[in-house]
Amino acid sequence: MEVIKISPRGYCYGVVDALQMVRQVAKDPTNPRPVYVIGQIVHNRHAIEELTNLGVITLDGQDRVSILDQVNEGTVIFTAHGVSPLVKRRARERGLHCIDATCPDVTVTHDLVRELAAVGYYILYIGKKGHPEPEGVLGEVPGRISLVENETDVDALMLTPEQEQKLAVATQTTLSQWDTRRVIEYIKAKYSHAEVHIDICAATQTRQEAVVAQAKGADLTIVVGDPRSNNKELAGVPAVRIEDLSQLNIEWLKGKNRIAVTAGASTPSQLTREVIRFIEQYQTET
Ligand code: SF4
Repeated sequence: MEVIKISPRGYCYGVVDALQMVRQVAKDPTNPRPVYVIGQIVHNRHAIEELTNLGVITLDGQDRVSILDQVNEGTVIFTAHGVSPLVKRRARERGLHCIDATCPDVTVTHDLVRELAAVGYYILYIGKKGHPEPEGVLGEVPGRISLVENETDVDALMLTPEQEQKLAVATQTTLSQWDTRRVIEYIKAKYSHAEVHIDICAATQTRQEAVVAQAKGADLTIVVGDPRSNNKELAGVPAVRIEDLSQLNIEWLKGKNRIAVTAGASTPSQLTREVIRFIEQYQTET
């Protein structure tokens, strides 16, 4: 079977740096114990297992504030998704040693919404409900920002005349650029004066564009990624998502000639390599 290995794929620099930071903290005995990660460092259970083996405890829960409430001592690491100022303040008040692994691209959005709110804008933030990144960004400017995921959310907005007068749009870093453009067009049709800032990060964009350019002509695209990851760079290409090789259904390969394989920004490269090797081998066995 011919395998198109989409490139770039897999870990982005934000994830690589965050994982490296956690490994260093785990190895350095001067950091107070226990060492906790507040939420999943990346949305990938294989990566989390590696950190568990280093003695790092990953705590998960509804939101970052309630996760932090489980911790009374030691070191807390904030993930690449970023956290709200409230979470940082609570951690400091509790005397916890804080390590911030927020990706610089996420910090850009935190700074942006603060600056926009400071000069009187009301912000429509396009992002995924229940994802930690919007939680952190919304927490920067409570009362001056609304989370919208789609056109229905835009229709449901109840903006005051003052909010409507000075509107800005910002976005989560890991969205599909095509879905986001569609929502922005919808917003602009209603609020043509809205100032638009698209903060989809370069790593996400290049991975999405790589799929569109390289998966052309493939019978199927397989995305290796955790179901909680938000990187769905599919753009109309027929695709399935699997967490790892164990979820690969042989039926998908039958009658196919070319399979494209890519990976989410939080997928360890080892998992993708295993899938690629299996599909290449499948050809030799049939
Ligand atoms: S996907 Fe983008 S924003 Fe998120 S960690 Fe990676 S580089 Fe940073």
